Amino acid sequence: MQEQDELPVLLNQAHRHAVEHIEGLEARSVFPTAAALEGLTGFDEPLPAEPSPAAEVLETLHRIGSPATVAQTVGRYFGFVDGGALPVGVAARWLADVWDQNTAQYVMSPVASHLEEVCEAWIVDLLGLPGGTAAGFVCGTTLANFSGLCAGRNELLRRRGWDVAKKGLHGAPRLRVLAGDDAHASVFKVVSLLGMGTECVELIETDEQGRMIPDRIPDLAESALVITQAGNVNSGAFDPVGAVCDRVQSVGSWVHVDGAFGLWAGASPALRSLYEGCERADSWSVDAHKTLNVPYDSGIVLCRDRAALTSAFEASGAYFQWTDRREGMQYTPTMSRRARGVELWAVLKSLGRSGVAALIDRLVEHAGLFATLLRETGFEIRNDVVFNQVLISCEDDELTARTLERVQASGECWCGGSVWNGSNVIRISVCDWATSAEDVERAVAAFVRARDEACRGPNG
Ligand SMILES: *Cc1c(COP(=O)(O)O)cnc(C)c1O
Repeated sequence: MQEQDELPVLLNQAHRHAVEHIEGLEARSVFPTAAALEGLTGFDEPLPAEPSPAAEVLETLHRIGSPATVAQTVGRYFGFVDGGALPVGVAARWLADVWDQNTAQYVMSPVASHLEEVCEAWIVDLLGLPGGTAAGFVCGTTLANFSGLCAGRNELLRRRGWDVAKKGLHGAPRLRVLAGDDAHASVFKVVSLLGMGTECVELIETDEQGRMIPDRIPDLAESALVITQAGNVNSGAFDPVGAVCDRVQSVGSWVHVDGAFGLWAGASPALRSLYEGCERADSWSVDAHKTLNVPYDSGIVLCRDRAALTSAFEASGAYFQWTDRREGMQYTPTMSRRARGVELWAVLKSLGRSGVAALIDRLVEHAGLFATLLRETGFEIRNDVVFNQVLISCEDDELTARTLERVQASGECWCGGSVWNGSNVIRISVCDWATSAEDVERAVAAFVRARDEACRGPNG
């Protein structure tokens, strides 16, 4: 058996490995090298029959694992919409891991419950949401979308006299579900999980930036579940949520905002016009692990009607011990859960209101710099760069694809591709606090070299 007094020793060892990892980041390839990936076979063995010393296990993990990580925190990772991690968040999380708290109930962790209450109030204030808005702390926006849409579905059906939690969806009144043509993949996953059927979603036409066109929303005779987004996963564009609310809320519709990475725009006075109207919705999703740079995994569901959220996640059991304090499991689909509020609190406390605004503004500023420099070097900018996303292409689809391949192989930076308005794009997401203007310049130089190589072809 391992001994409890091993823990400080192992934490010191983990600290040594972590520091070595951090110190090596700047010099290494952003995407792991072929040799590092080959090294992963070092993990392949039959289930060990006998125990191994913990120190050896950690050493193996570092030796094989660290080089095979994607260097997401280095400032030159622009893939998907993956955030970096602020140092204070990582450190607070280490402490929270040592605490090993379960946040299902107040009696399991008064400190976790308390910090969730504090974070809830701060985020509602920061984003200018209606007083009393409830927050649930989940693993990411997929589950936050699930939670917000579950609350909305249940509440709309409850108003029509149908208790879906008890009766299920068979025989339920029909509920229309509307989403923009550019809604995120997770929205469809969630609609399917909630039993509402992806084919039943009415897709509302979007404009060339991917924004829902409010005039294309059909006249509604009854309330519907309407899913908008703040931050298109390709272009970064925001739906005109206020105008959508104008069209659908008079019949009592529930408006949800998928704001995975965009909702934090609400913290920036400079981005006021993008965010405007979002605060009029009924529920919202946002990731702390993307643009806010809290370590993975951290998502938040926000719901104007607290009772709608908590009633969706009701559970009972003789062994539960309820208090009059915040009971975490009433706000999320899960019961046992790590104390995500700890590192979230630490990041919000260390940044403060002005620091969150400065963090978001910095991402937007660097996206703008990317667009300027890439345009100057002959790339075509394919979107209005309003937030942290930049879509670019070369003269034709094939050159764009080959340039992207070479960018990815360069090790200098990493980003992904997508298809936008019918043709290939390279998709740049500026999501990391650590990205500096020099990182952007270095990445642009890598893009130019990649395109030159792609032009010369395989034998060039
Ligand atoms: C990332 C993202 C999601 C999914 O969030 P996860 O945290 O990966 O579950 C949903 N919607 C949008 C717009 C996103 O960018």
